[in-house]
Amino acid sequence: DPAALVQVMFHLGEMVTATQSVSDETLQLLGAELDYDVEIVSPEDEDRELLESFSIEFGEDEGDEEDLQPRPPVVSVMGHVDHGKTKLLDAIRGENVAAREAGGITQHIGAYQVSTEVDGEERKITFIDTPGHEAFTAMRARGAQLTDIAVLVVAADDGVMPQTIEALNHAKAAGVPIVVAVNKIDLPDADPAKVRGQLTEYGLVPEEYGGDTMFVDISAKARLNLDDLLEAIVLTADATLDLRANPNQAAQGVTVEAHLDKGRGPVATVLVQRGTLKVGDSIVVGPAYGRVRAMLDEHGQQVDKALPSRPVLVLGLSSVPRAGDNFLVVPDDRVARQIAEKREARERNASFAKRSPRVSLENLTELLTERQALNLIIKGDVSGSVEALEDALSKIDVGEEVDLRILHRGVGAVTENDVNLASIDNAIIIGFNVRAQSRSVERLAEQEGVEIRYYSVIYQAIEEVEAALKGLLKPEY
Ligand code: GDP
Repeated sequence: DPAALVQVMFHLGEMVTATQSVSDETLQLLGAELDYDVEIVSPEDEDRELLESFSIEFGEDEGDEEDLQPRPPVVSVMGHVDHGKTKLLDAIRGENVAAREAGGITQHIGAYQVSTEVDGEERKITFIDTPGHEAFTAMRARGAQLTDIAVLVVAADDGVMPQTIEALNHAKAAGVPIVVAVNKIDLPDADPAKVRGQLTEYGLVPEEYGGDTMFVDISAKARLNLDDLLEAIVLTADATLDLRANPNQAAQGVTVEAHLDKGRGPVATVLVQRGTLKVGDSIVVGPAYGRVRAMLDEHGQQVDKALPSRPVLVLGLSSVPRAGDNFLVVPDDRVARQIAEKREARERNASFAKRSPRVSLENLTELLTERQALNLIIKGDVSGSVEALEDALSKIDVGEEVDLRILHRGVGAVTENDVNLASIDNAIIIGFNVRAQSRSVERLAEQEGVEIRYYSVIYQAIEEVEAALKGLLKPEY
């Protein structure tokens, strides 16, 4: 009875209303009070259980070691604005289409595959065709990791810029190896050596200086050394990753992009991660489902099957899924529909329940006993204040048992990207003399349970973080 629960909560010292969502901790407290065991299930766990009830495992290669076959690396291109990401993606795509004898018309479907020759062997590479790390982070926030390698584009005339570092931090946080493309070397004031020096300071040490990061000098505009870049991607993949998948199973993977097409209805570009996707398969894509009516590649050509790491445009879905939603092939249409409907219902419930902050300075003491780390993202109005704040925060003496990590810092308003990053890594965002970029960023933070704290006085920020770390912060009422 909701009224009774409100009363129990009141006795526990928490004022709640019958329709209010409460934190996991409060729920557990309430359970203990009423002699119930409360089990907190994450959406991922819930989805796994849902699939298991249909005897489906997501994210697993089936079969034995010998069923695994090499698959091409999947690459995202990241870097500072105007450093040439789009130009590079176009140049690589263009070169390859020219190399084909009778290709169709190039279509932007969100990803494409090219081939290159390395040591006399033909090797394929899949590129995600949306430049920038926003897409990358949005997908990670949804639990999807499809990038194997990040190409960090740095213009040789401009050098390392704020978003270069941001991109680098995203790739590092995701544990994705980086290949550096030093672009615009056709310009007279290009200084590729400077870029190498700058990135070395951020832990990306070029191979030629004894490090393990490959740097390739290119010009996306003059189409210089693009083959060398492709080779560096393949070599980095071979050296650091074991990219294999079982093509002989029901296909699974991730949605790269989706939209409603006037003539074709809902269409989604999916990237096959394991198994082989075929026309006629019954498929679930996030909360959408359907039968694969047709598949198109990046040349607009019909294909009837897609192997691991292959991106294809899928026609025949019931609705438009989101980028980052996973897809899987199931035994028949009925199963597809049931899974999709259950997911949709769950998402509806989850959006109600996600209102209270997961990590906040107030409940930090409890959380620290489990995690022993406070992750922060710092945004400020000018780089001087960000540095000063970071410097002061890193000097807080929190003892050995607690770890204060600054995941990301930058100049400017708090963006959607910051919230996504905070949500993945359970971080608190500190805004110094800046606000959220828009109302929708604030809404996203609320929805994802990410706390943003605003300050305009440095010592106040330091004091509160310090107090929280020492468990002294009094809750605000
Ligand atoms: P993005 O914002 O990183 O996607 O950058 P763009 O690909 O849009 O490129 C920004 C500008 O730099 C455009 O005017 C490009 O034509 C130019 N650009 C890109 N690559 C090169 C290059 O290799 N050399 C020169 N000179 N200009 C380039």
